[in-house]
Amino acid sequence: MDVCIVGGGIAGLTLAYWLSEKGDNVTVLEKSSSLRTEGYMIDFFGPGYEVAEKMGLMNELRNIHYPIDSLVFMKNDGEKKYDIPYPKLRKLMDDKHFNFMRGDLESVLYKQVKNRVNVKFDSSPVSIDQDDDHVYVTLTDESTLTSDLLVGADGMRSSVRSLAFNETFNNSIRYIGYYTAAYIIDDPAVLSKTGRSFYTYSEPGAQVSVYPIRGNKVATFFLYTYPEQQGHVTQERAFHQLHEQFGHMNWIVPDLLKASVDADDFYFDEVSQVELPEWRNGRITFVGDSCQCVSLLAGQGASMAMAGAYTLAKSLENQTDLSTALAHYEQSLHSDIEALQRSARKFANYFLPDSWWRIYVRDVLTRASVLPGIRKFVNFKTVRLPQ
Ligand SMILES: Cc1cc2nc3c(=O)[nH]c(=O)nc-3n(C[C@H](O)[C@H](O)[C@H](O)COP(=O)(O)OP(=O)(O)OC[C@H]3O[C@@H](n4cnc5c(N)ncnc54)[C@H](O)[C@@H]3O)c2cc1C
Repeated sequence: MDVCIVGGGIAGLTLAYWLSEKGDNVTVLEKSSSLRTEGYMIDFFGPGYEVAEKMGLMNELRNIHYPIDSLVFMKNDGEKKYDIPYPKLRKLMDDKHFNFMRGDLESVLYKQVKNRVNVKFDSSPVSIDQDDDHVYVTLTDESTLTSDLLVGADGMRSSVRSLAFNETFNNSIRYIGYYTAAYIIDDPAVLSKTGRSFYTYSEPGAQVSVYPIRGNKVATFFLYTYPEQQGHVTQERAFHQLHEQFGHMNWIVPDLLKASVDADDFYFDEVSQVELPEWRNGRITFVGDSCQCVSLLAGQGASMAMAGAYTLAKSLENQTDLSTALAHYEQSLHSDIEALQRSARKFANYFLPDSWWRIYVRDVLTRASVLPGIRKFVNFKTVRLPQ
């Protein structure tokens, strides 16, 4: 089967791997000119971890993993409030857990597929048509690609959704009230103020984290509530907003904000989910954030993207015809993803509390979560992979 995947992120590359494993002829269209390195450190566990095991990636993932000592919650004056040793947190995930930078996972996946699928960088669809037998994609260079199946793996703001589903922009995006920023600082003075842990300071509606990464650099992660969805935000406006939201804080925060102007890999985005009522239209379907974005509040975006890709590939392998396979894929995941999205929205006030009282409750629960015997009561909502 000829398959065109739009988007070479975590979902698109994982799908490319599994389809090429089963002998499909795969083309991946990626609009960036190369792999993108932006993003923050992700917790990687759950079904994506299982998919990575099936792909034989454990050694590669161990190499990109950061052996963070602990999760340290800070006070505004730079004193430690409390800490949770990471090994105890990993126990909650039965030790099947990694922390690594989002971009590093993408690089590992790209290495798996680059010699067996055609990854076309600087390439996007400008129009998509289909008939009973094929899908026809016109690309930015005006060439046409004909395939048996087209998969939109192009993230939260999927252009495949608008081109193939005539969707008006943002129709399926549910803004859940937060903005996030992440960037890398290459400044020894800032590094000298951190240790080997992941440090977080929270105030009602605003949270900042900082942690060391390879190359003697420091990575940051900001999250704050914002009343409305802002559309496109320029980098200048984003800096301004970070100063507005975090400028009054102490600890290391003034250094982080000062360094933002010279920062590498500046990432800034709204925190939203994607709720797509139908995941398929004839020979077109979706995978990853384009149809199932759960948002960073669920803490499993990359894991879910890999789980979705694997589930789609297995449905295509095991079902007799395309239409049945796409229906089977959607039925296997759609309602579990909706449940996960609901649970992420409920969890939002734990992730970023909106009052000092809720911060207190969050702290008590976080400390309790690693007490002996608690593991059997902790149940992460997730999805099940096909056998
Ligand atoms: C640069 C970047 C940084 C991120 N940082 C964070 C972060 O810090 N925190 C967080 O929670 N999530 C972040 N995410 C989202 C996170 O990666 C996803 O939630 C998760 O990994 C699911 O991945 P995905 O492959 O479905 O979507 P994405 O990771 O969004 O990947 C989609 C891919 O499609 C490409 N693409 C988009 N439109 C087109 C088009 N028209 N034609 C061709 N290609 C297209 C994009 O360039 C991208 O490579 C980031 C995503 C990106 C792309």
